[in-house]
Formats: sequence, C-alpha cells, structure tokens
Amino acid sequence: MNNDTICALATANGIGALGIIRVSGNEALTVVQKCFPSKNLEKQKSHTIHYGYFMDEDEAIDEVMLSIFLAPRTFTTENSVEITFHGSPHIGKRILETLMKNGARMAKAGEFTLRAFINGRIDLSQAEAIADVIASENEASRKVAINQLKGGITNEISFLRTDLLNFVSLIELELDFAEEDVEFADRSALNQLLNKIELKLNSLIESFQYGNAIKNGTAVAIIGKPNAGKSTLLNALLKEERAIVSSIAGTTRDTIEEVLHIKGHAFRLIDTAGLRETIDEIEAIGVKKAKEKVENADVLVYLADAATKDFTDDIEMIKSLLRNDLKLIICATKIDEVIPTHYENAEQIFRDEISHEFDFIKISAVENQNIQDLKNELSSYVEQLKTSENNVIITNQRHFEALQKSLDAVDKVKEAINFQISTELLAYELRNALEYLGEISGEVTNDEVLGNIFSKFCIGK
Ligand code: GDP
Repeated sequence: MNNDTICALATANGIGALGIIRVSGNEALTVVQKCFPSKNLEKQKSHTIHYGYFMDEDEAIDEVMLSIFLAPRTFTTENSVEITFHGSPHIGKRILETLMKNGARMAKAGEFTLRAFINGRIDLSQAEAIADVIASENEASRKVAINQLKGGITNEISFLRTDLLNFVSLIELELDFAEEDVEFADRSALNQLLNKIELKLNSLIESFQYGNAIKNGTAVAIIGKPNAGKSTLLNALLKEERAIVSSIAGTTRDTIEEVLHIKGHAFRLIDTAGLRETIDEIEAIGVKKAKEKVENADVLVYLADAATKDFTDDIEMIKSLLRNDLKLIICATKIDEVIPTHYENAEQIFRDEISHEFDFIKISAVENQNIQDLKNELSSYVEQLKTSENNVIITNQRHFEALQKSLDAVDKVKEAINFQISTELLAYELRNALEYLGEISGEVTNDEVLGNIFSKFCIGK
C-alpha cells in the first residue's frame, strides 16, 4: 500500500458557511506547508488548530483554519491536515489545485476509509458502517449504523471465531500425530461450540429481514380497483410528509416511489406514479401491473370501496396477488360515504374467502378516519420483524451472504463429525467455516471485495 499524499473535499460540494478539505499521507504536512507560510507546521503539536492564509505562491486564496493530526492518532493513522475554508466551491477547487501542484493527488472514492482499514484502525464492517452512518435517513438506520461502527457484528462473531480457531489448532495437532490415533479435540465439545455458533449465525441471519427494512425501507403496494380511493389515501398518508418527503426514482424500473416515515421507519410506496395516471390507463394496465407491483412489495394494502357490497372482484384480485411472505392489510374505504350497517359484514365476507392472515381496517381518507390505525399496523409489521434476542442487526447484503456461507460451512463440519469422517476433511471444513466468519470483519479478504466496497463510497470519505 503506498501512502502518497491524497486530498479531497470532505464537505458537500456546494455553497456553505464553511468547507473542509482533507489531506492525508506521510508528506501531508510538507505539502500543506508549501501553501501555508505563516507557521512552521513541523513544530506544531498533534490535534491543534492554526489560523492563516492559504497561498498559491504569492497569491492568498482564502483565510483558513488548519487542523493538524499527527500519525498514528488519526483517522487514516497517517499524518493528516484538515483545511477549513470559506464554503465557496470555487475556493475549494483552487485549494485542491494548489495542493496538487505541491505534491498531493486527488483521493479516490473511499480512499481515506480504505487507508483506515488497511492500516488496521477499523475493521471492514466498521468501514462499511461509516458509509451507512452517512447514508442514514432515519432514526432506525442511524442507530443500527452507529452500533455497527462501534464494532457490533464483529464483536458478536469474533469470540466464536477465536473458540473455533482453538479447535482448528487441536485438530491440526491431531494430524501431526496421525499415526498415534489420538484425539486432542473433544468432538462433543466441538459439537457444542458448533451448535452455539449455529444459533448465533441463525439469529444474525434472521435479523436481516428487519435490517433490510431499516436500510432500504419497507416496500408497500397500494392496490385496488379504479376509484377505490388509492390516490386519495396516498395523499392522506403523505400529507404531513410533504415537506420532508423525497420522490426517488426506483432502481429496477422507471417508477416513482414516495417515502413515508412512521415511528422512525421508512416505507416506500411502490410506483405511486401509477396512482396518478388517469383511470382509463389504470384499467388498461390492470392485473398484470398490480402483480408486478406486489412482486416487489413486503406489504399489500388492498383498498375495497365500502359502498360496494359485492367484493367478488376484490377477493379474486387479492387471491391472485398473495404469496406466503406477504403482509396483507385490507381497507374498506370511504366509510364516511355510507352508513355503518352497509359495510359491517364486509370483514366477514373477506374472512370467509381468504385464508391468508390479514388485518382489516375501515377508513375514510377524506375525513382522515382510522388512517392512524393503518399507520400503526404498518409500523407494527416492521417492529415484529425485530428478533427479540438480537442487539446486532444485519443490514448489509455482504454480511448476510457471508453469514449464510458460514452457516453452511458449520453444517458441513457437524455432518463431518456425525459421519466420523477423516480428520483431514474435518480440518478442511473447519478452516472453511473460519474463513467465511473472517470475511465479515475483513480478516480474510481480497482486492476485488475491497474494490467493490470502497468504490461505492464518495470521494473525501
Ligand atoms: P383511485 O382510482 O383508487 O386512485 O381513487 P381516487 O383516490 O381517485 O378516488 C376516487 C373517488 O373517490 C374520488 O372522487 C375521491 O374523492 C373519492 N374518495 C376517495 N376516498 C374517499 C373517502 O375516504 N371518502 C369519500 N367520501 N370519497 C373518497
């Protein structure tokens, strides 16, 4: 790993009161010194701040503050300087150009964090957590990311890995004494440890469903016949959100998703653009489109007009959309329009026909009746995904995959013990399991994986 001097804008690229440029590398002080003649930086203590002019030769670019961090007590463990300037993008650009003229180069995406990882200051899951902290958009995702940054998943796994490592050493010792037919590693104790590991892995794997809901939001499809009240409900749900809500373009298709926040959790309302199309278009798109939407959803909110007494079409539609892992909420809509006796049997009609579990809520989007109940139901759906015994929640696909591979490998070791297969094979399976467990914290890794992770970071991170 070379530690040439890198620099990048660490703050958002736009006008602000202040901006910060980060410089890191063995020669960081020497490079910055050439642009900051007012003080001798070599003589300054670590973690101190210095006022002066940032100069491009004889020209003063800006009045700045320098923060100096000396190796090894820095984010990257290398000498680092942070230059705080007046937040004009143009000034930021001039400062970066001047730094490069004097021996620094632009940092690549995530290069500061990569250096922190390579130099052993943080493990891989913590490096990933930094990206998650920055990306966190609600309380739930912030909490999980901060917990991860504190070493969450690695702490959970590392002591199990250490125990397993002890067994691997014992088994390998057996291999050394192969002729003597001795057993240093107590097979039943090993089995017990494997069971313990399996339990932990399973509970971490289970937490991914909740973790995914935290990180990516819960996908909700609002479906119903034309005129059932879908767009009216959507507007009622989003009413208080309007100021903060962001419309984001879907990743898989050209759809618009609106995000609704309930009790710190995000709900992505799938393809809300469709809801704003004209009724004719919706009818033309019909069931096929509804199926597509529900395919990508965790929750189906199905709206049936309470004024209709005949729910045959609705029931048919719901049946065609259901799958085992789908949460179903059926809402009888427009209850302000009809008298209660008109729709009081509605729930029973659905219950008679639909065996899938569902919640039934009677709402009026126009009069805002029971909309809160619907929100509560959505919120409790996410809450119940939380597995009670887990403090650490997996939100990262890479961790999820490594955990599953570890679990498979542990299963194979258990099988190997059961079938009393050769010590060589047992040692092989054990090493496999160790390797997958090590992938999470980055103890075992390769350049491709690292490239993949850090290229998704932004520059300056
Ligand atoms: P969509 O086709 O399912 O999106 O249905 P809309 O939301 O466009 O609603 C169809 C019609 O029903 C509109 O005239 C709405 O004003 C009306 N509507 C929707 N929700 C309610 C409600 O809760 N109460 C009443 N009285 N009318 C509603």
